[in-house]
Amino acid sequence: MSAVKMDGKALSDKVRGSILAETEALKQRGITPGLAVIIVGNDPASEIYVRNKEKACAACGFYSEKYALPAETTQDELLGLIAQLNESPRISGILCQMPVPAHISAQAVIDAIDPRKDVDAFHPVNVGKIMVGDFDFVPCTPAGVMELLAAYQIDPAGKECVVIGRSNIVGKPMAMLLLHKHGTVTLCHSRTQGLDEVCRRADILIAAVGKAGFVTPDMVKDGAVVIDVGINRNAAGKVCGDVDPAVMEKASYMTPVPGGAGPMTITMLMKNTLKAAKLQNGL
Ligand code: NDP
Repeated sequence: MSAVKMDGKALSDKVRGSILAETEALKQRGITPGLAVIIVGNDPASEIYVRNKEKACAACGFYSEKYALPAETTQDELLGLIAQLNESPRISGILCQMPVPAHISAQAVIDAIDPRKDVDAFHPVNVGKIMVGDFDFVPCTPAGVMELLAAYQIDPAGKECVVIGRSNIVGKPMAMLLLHKHGTVTLCHSRTQGLDEVCRRADILIAAVGKAGFVTPDMVKDGAVVIDVGINRNAAGKVCGDVDPAVMEKASYMTPVPGGAGPMTITMLMKNTLKAAKLQNGL
């Protein structure tokens, strides 16, 4: 039996519709959510992500500003721009597209963003809030995964949840969110011993590795829910996930790539921006 495909595109469109409706209502009260997106240099993948974020802002009725800075921009110049945006009343959320060029410290950039405008939820204040379970913003990719699980009525409570990948932007916050929902969470990485066996225990298996086809059917328990966060390109240049599509035959639910976790990520950024605008206006 083939798994139910978890349609991240359809859910994303639905959530954007409700964000737009809420934005229209806020505008009646004189509040327009505003997102500032900064890109330094001209990494082609980053340019696509930034363009998609601008499009999503338009779809949600937001005001947006884009700052495309040359690769030679100094760290001081970038931090100066962030300081201005921190003070700007038109801007509810600020994000700097990663990676930044090597001469700029990514952590210094993250630290410079006002935590109240940190819609990526990368600032240590927001990371700490996620840890204690009392947070306003959630990193967008794990937040999107949680929305997908909820939309398909998959409750992590009491389940074996295995996350492969421990990055600050995906794996670690993913594990925390599952833990807050009472999953029994195992967080795996490149030093994990017996990974295949650990994965076979999973009721919910989340792959955030960055390696095409890394999760094969023999690593998946019959009927598991499999979430594929990976965005990779195969030898033919086609976008593919971390999970071998043949896993569809073993899983009960699975996200396709593209069209699964990916579309949800930017929509969660919009959700965080809307929330930032509301919080900054005492709502
Ligand atoms: P990172 O490269 O930062 O992290 C990869 C993780 O995978 C690391 O923790 C690494 O372990 C682990 N890993 C690597 N090889 C193995 C292995 N052989 N066995 C077990 N674990 C391994 O990647 P990201 O978290 O940033 O991204 C992961 C994937 O998700 C990428 O394909 C990326 O493109 C995609 N992505 C998708 C997004 C979306 O919108 N859907 C958003 C962000 C990312 P270790 O820590 O030990 O090195």
